[in-house]
Amino acid sequence: MGKVYLDYNASAPVDPRVAEVVYATLTQGIGNASSSHAYGRSQAALVETAREQVAGLLGASPGGVLFTSGATEANNLALCGVVEAAAPERRRLLISAVEHASVKKAADRLASRAQAKLDLIPVHPSGSVNLEALEEMLDDDVLAVSVMAANSETGVLNPLPEISERAHSVGALFHCDATQHVGRLRFDVSEAGADLVSLSSHKICGPGGMGALVGSRAALRKLSPVIHGGGQERGLRSGSLNVAGAAGFGAASEIAEAEREVESARVAALRDRLTDKLTQRLEGVTQNGDVSNRLPNTANIRFAGADAEAVAANLDPVAVSLGSACSSGSPEPSAVLMAMGLDEQASYESLRFSLGRFTTPEDVELAVKMTVKAVQFVREMT
Ligand code: PMP
Repeated sequence: MGKVYLDYNASAPVDPRVAEVVYATLTQGIGNASSSHAYGRSQAALVETAREQVAGLLGASPGGVLFTSGATEANNLALCGVVEAAAPERRRLLISAVEHASVKKAADRLASRAQAKLDLIPVHPSGSVNLEALEEMLDDDVLAVSVMAANSETGVLNPLPEISERAHSVGALFHCDATQHVGRLRFDVSEAGADLVSLSSHKICGPGGMGALVGSRAALRKLSPVIHGGGQERGLRSGSLNVAGAAGFGAASEIAEAEREVESARVAALRDRLTDKLTQRLEGVTQNGDVSNRLPNTANIRFAGADAEAVAANLDPVAVSLGSACSSGSPEPSAVLMAMGLDEQASYESLRFSLGRFTTPEDVELAVKMTVKAVQFVREMT
């Protein structure tokens, strides 16, 4: 029986076309992209091409792309970097209650060291940010508002232009973690009104360990570096560049942008087939979050009366996720689902299915079959 991988939001398989670019870059190039000799210059040229390709994914200027080791580092650089450079009287951060751990824990750390004040913007039961609550929280001590474009657990989308407008009305920066959104739905940095955007390569079929913080010239001027050293990436992220990683991320970005519309329509149809069939074949199936306002590839599904961990353990060879993969392994209920007003039991009965480029109709058939069997088995046992 083949493997059925439905955990694209944790990490998407590397596209073979991207792997070829990474391999060629690793085997053909020599040198450090910062060196001034011809070897170094040709490595630097590869990085600049990658910068253009990544910028193209979000309609940004290539000069505003800072390569990092992933979205985790980009989020840390955005939050810690702006706080460090800020005036003492403007050090309040507003982040949504459903942010990824790399935003939440970075902000918690700043608050626990009294470097910043932190407030959480509540979300509606639908999963998206409560704009009225945000409005009430805004004041001229707010340094930055950080809200993700699409939630990794539910796929629910946030009203980015509305958030940006409100943040800007008090002179705050708008940072947006667009890790799960780019490559799946159109994302334009100007339309979103985001000053800083975090991205990750391995969510768009690129190599792992690669990401970017993308910012306008004005926003990048408001950042202090978090990693110090040789002054690469405009002095904001020192360290010899991962040239093969950048080239792979660039290739993945170009492919994602070129194929996004067709791919997302195909994937959404497969995702809907999965949820329709599960709902038809099982009682007590509900979806968490606003199904009309979410990523095309994601479904967060509750199977009432069936412990999700037990269901997942009986799903082999189908791979899905319990809440956020990055926080799985811990017995805590999903902070995202709890912030949406679900109770602990609902959270413990919910699984995330996330599909992508290489998901086939046969994968969906097998996933339905195995899930129905596993849920029935777990329900009978309890
Ligand atoms: N933000 C979001 C919304 C994510 O889903 C993830 C990955 N789980 C990250 C940030 C972290 O990305 P990376 O693995 O590139 O550090």
